[in-house]
Amino acid sequence: MNIETKCLHSGYSPKNTEPRVVPIYQSTTYVYDSAEDIAAVFDDPTKSLIYSRFANPTVMAVEAKIADLECGTAAMCTSSGQAASLLSVLNICSAGDSFISTSQIYGGTYNLFSYTLPRMGIECIFVDANASEEELHKAFKPNTKLVFGETLANASLAVMDIEKFAKAAHEHNVPLIVDNTFPTPALCRPIEHGADIVVHSTSKYMDGHAVQVGGVIVDSGEFNWNKGDFPGLTQPDGSYHGIVYTETYGKLAYILKARMQLMRDFGVYSAAHSAFMLNLGLETLALRMERHSQNALALAKYLQTSDRIEKVVYPGLEGDKYYDLAKKYLPGGASGVIAATVKGGRDGAMEFMNGLKLTSKEVHVADIRTCILHPASTTHRQLSDEGLKAGGIEPGMVRISVGLESIEDLIEDFNG
Ligand SMILES: *Cc1c(COP(=O)(O)O)cnc(C)c1O
Repeated sequence: MNIETKCLHSGYSPKNTEPRVVPIYQSTTYVYDSAEDIAAVFDDPTKSLIYSRFANPTVMAVEAKIADLECGTAAMCTSSGQAASLLSVLNICSAGDSFISTSQIYGGTYNLFSYTLPRMGIECIFVDANASEEELHKAFKPNTKLVFGETLANASLAVMDIEKFAKAAHEHNVPLIVDNTFPTPALCRPIEHGADIVVHSTSKYMDGHAVQVGGVIVDSGEFNWNKGDFPGLTQPDGSYHGIVYTETYGKLAYILKARMQLMRDFGVYSAAHSAFMLNLGLETLALRMERHSQNALALAKYLQTSDRIEKVVYPGLEGDKYYDLAKKYLPGGASGVIAATVKGGRDGAMEFMNGLKLTSKEVHVADIRTCILHPASTTHRQLSDEGLKAGGIEPGMVRISVGLESIEDLIEDFNG
């Protein structure tokens, strides 16, 4: 099936007289006919449900849909995008291990990787998203367990060369994890380019309506854990009656370990109601991403002609640093986020924002409604102009998340 059809039909096929729409199973718990039936579930939890901290039918329907959208084998929803990134790494790395990440990643992920995981004994080695193959190979250490990056980086809008990173990771027998939040599977499916695991903040375009915070981890099922050094997957798990995930679950090993071990212990599962809201968003995902991309390209082109704007960054624009990579990895559109530098630095940017009426000023991206944020006075407020520039952010830069309004109305709003 094509993506538009999967968005509507994957993950849930009701039988005779069952509800047309996946229902909200607002229940923490499940009943069994006998004591033996309960005992059997603990031997093989894939056969039935135990408790809604591990799995819930509403959430499972959405997990199956997202796995299908990403062309993966299995998925697990989490309570936030941050939880998805955290568990995706912890499912492989323990204290004493290291991993590689591009430095062009979401600020929250950057904090997790550069401060919190190191406190737990897991070291992150940062490389530039534009690193050459040789530089990439140099970053590997004997204890390196995975490589991480973002398809389309929030907020720098760098496009990752997924095939290059996948090749390097596989030469060192480690998996590539890609955060695909900004493109969504409607615009890019990293697994088709060699990525092994995909994570998302579903709070962004997947939901699209800004009504739930959530995340998801999708596994391709294709990575061979026995080839590298991954004892957590290939050796008995003492906390789970000595199970060896790769032997018992094959292609489902990674997701079932994440579910039965990490979700059991960390408890960051999605609520059924959130999954229901997310599913409503997913139904229109392909349609929305097409329009977000069209509107963003049109607005970016308009802003290039505006005498109030110094510079426009959007990978779908000809001449953009990432235009060629965007053509390869995002042929259907470069998603809805634009970075524009307003003339007049900090003050110019704030004045520009205050002149907007339709566009809302808020700390969010990927909403169906157009919104704008000025990093220098908000998310990066503590930095001096010099500090900002070192991080690749101009004092006058605004980040515009282009929504689904009429492009004529949007251009009029930005015309002042
Ligand atoms: C927002 C975001 C996250 C974090 O997701 P939350 O749902 O806010 O926890 C991770 N990665 C990217 C690329 C994001 O944009």
